[in-house]
Amino acid sequence: TYDDMDSYVDLLIVGAGPAGLMLAAWASQYDIHTRIIDEKSARVQTGQADGLHSRSLEIFDSFGLAETFLKGAFHVNEICSWNPDPKNPRHVIRTQRARTQPSNLSRYPQVSLNQGLTEQILLDYLASKGKVSVERNLTPETFHIDERLCDDDSAYPSVLTLRRLADNEWAKNIRPDSYQGAERETVRAKYVVGCDGAHSWLRQQLRIPLIGEHTNKHFGVMDIVPLTDFPDIRESCVIHSNCGSVMTIPREGRFVRLYVQLGETAEGETSDRAAITPKAILDRARPILEPYSLDFRICDWQSVYTIGQRVAPRFSHRDRIFLAGDAVHTHSPTMGQGMNVSMQDAYNLGWKIGSVLSGMSDRKILSSYDEERRPIANELIKLDTKMSNFYSEGPSEESQDYQTFRDTFSWFLSGVSVSYGPNMLVTSAKKGLASSNGHHANGDRRGSHGEHANGPKPYETNGSNGHRCSPVSDVALAREIRLGQRMPSEKIVCQSEANPMLLSDILPSNGKWRALVFAGDLTSADQRQVVQNLGEALEKVCHQYAHPRQGLHSTIEVITIHSRSRDDVVMLDLHNVYHPWDDTLGWDYWKVYCDDAGTAGTCGETYEKYGIDAESGCLVILRPDQHVSYIGALSDETAPARFFADVLVPRTR
Ligand code: FAD
Repeated sequence: TYDDMDSYVDLLIVGAGPAGLMLAAWASQYDIHTRIIDEKSARVQTGQADGLHSRSLEIFDSFGLAETFLKGAFHVNEICSWNPDPKNPRHVIRTQRARTQPSNLSRYPQVSLNQGLTEQILLDYLASKGKVSVERNLTPETFHIDERLCDDDSAYPSVLTLRRLADNEWAKNIRPDSYQGAERETVRAKYVVGCDGAHSWLRQQLRIPLIGEHTNKHFGVMDIVPLTDFPDIRESCVIHSNCGSVMTIPREGRFVRLYVQLGETAEGETSDRAAITPKAILDRARPILEPYSLDFRICDWQSVYTIGQRVAPRFSHRDRIFLAGDAVHTHSPTMGQGMNVSMQDAYNLGWKIGSVLSGMSDRKILSSYDEERRPIANELIKLDTKMSNFYSEGPSEESQDYQTFRDTFSWFLSGVSVSYGPNMLVTSAKKGLASSNGHHANGDRRGSHGEHANGPKPYETNGSNGHRCSPVSDVALAREIRLGQRMPSEKIVCQSEANPMLLSDILPSNGKWRALVFAGDLTSADQRQVVQNLGEALEKVCHQYAHPRQGLHSTIEVITIHSRSRDDVVMLDLHNVYHPWDDTLGWDYWKVYCDDAGTAGTCGETYEKYGIDAESGCLVILRPDQHVSYIGALSDETAPARFFADVLVPRTR
């Protein structure tokens, strides 16, 4: 029984840092009741994380925000490696300029922008959607979960007491249990997500530890406006001298972030943080930069960090409570990953909770969060250990050629090679074909746990009766599209309007699944028939899962890309599911595209870039987060029904 005085919420997010705000951005796409609370009275103002990698920008783009980020950010195009001059080992010289990442990696570069501005852009986005806003000066005080209710979809198993704080009370009282605020409220939640940072209160309530070690190596960090003759000060640099290391990252405006090696403390001894002033950091940096000079008048932020890598052994509890971001993994800032991986955790989780709460999907999809994101955190921890050794100790045999060293990691660091599955949301690759899909076999661009490479499961049966076989992906049909990875974006041309665009432009984060029908050569009568037959099957599937009042494509959107010129194809000759009709709005002209050169001659290579046969095409199914779930032949008309039966719930009409 529930108390009338209690408040009820579908989703409660604790913590409004980058992870919590990203989750709230997803929650804004659904018709669900979400609250997000934070003990602080304001967002981060200065310092902390500053690196934004390509996949994060792709994600922002899917919310329509990438341009806002790019305008304010510093673009990190090159990284310079500086080492002792063999002729004068007390001086450093530039030994290499390396590009930050290969040009074919993403349409977005790596940039740096301070965490506060990143949070502000997300806060502005939430305000523009008008569904979720951060409630500040509010913190959970008690937590209880009724384990008996966890399997009941309609239940609110988590009960939390929230306490309202006076402005900045969190800063005055470091220990949350000493907060003075008296106003309390009891909240019952269907789902709770702890995005409450490295000292996560929620993780502690669940008695989930962070496993790993802190080293005794310390770095001083500061954001300064440098006064210097060092020639690469407006480039990102890794500087190793015989008396320590400095890393530099130019920032927006005139600022430059410096990470300066402070040395090691003895076993068991902690560093005296108060003694590490900006002046002390400067004094350590100066001999490392010799023969160049360094000074500053303006310092915006300063901190000290100790290298360490820790990760939680589980990211969720009964698929009712989840932890994301720093709450479950902490590492050094050397790779600029903290904010990125934290937001990407939330990006993986948000649509799943949204789909379940809005009745699109069964709760069983939620287990994929831990399954998909924990291996990424473990991989990150491994790489971070290597990278922070490199930053502290300088080039080794493995990292002598800095460009090669960086390129090895950049696919993972950028976030674009992150790969999920196989699981309920990502089908297995056909046995024997995984290795023909380029990089899958040796895992060089996968970056995560590489199940496909270790031998895909040939068939998965529907758990309940074991009769229906889920489809198995034929990855050879799209040789450059990786099952489980995010869909790369290539140019296409709108059939009806002749506008060239990127595929990503029509894949916003709005909670929809996508069936991308690469229709092949529609001038062939046989191929037209194959596409027609698939259209009939897709119409039934779309109808079965569509929201009763929101149109045929409201849950699964069908997007067609054919390989012939626009002049060769008449959109209305295609089955209606490819350009659905609305009694008020007419035909949907923004669902059929082609791979011709376009009026400016800048398009027309998409089939080739995806490695898809221009005659026979293929079907690619994408999750709402743009990761590839399935690749198969157009002639396998029953595949979509088989695939979606495992992940979606039919809508009652
Ligand atoms: P956070 O950004 O920590 O957000 C957690 C949010 O939860 C905060 O807003 C907090 O107020 C709120 N919260 C916490 N506990 C409670 C509670 N009990 N009740 C209510 N609200 C709560 N990364 C880099 O890449 N480079 C750096 O140089 C760097 N420096 C850093 C310096 C500092 C001092 C810190 C703290 C972090 C630094 N990071 C750095 C890490 C980076 O900031 C994080 O990786 C990133 O912010 C993680 O995002 P998150 O949302 O998971 O957690």
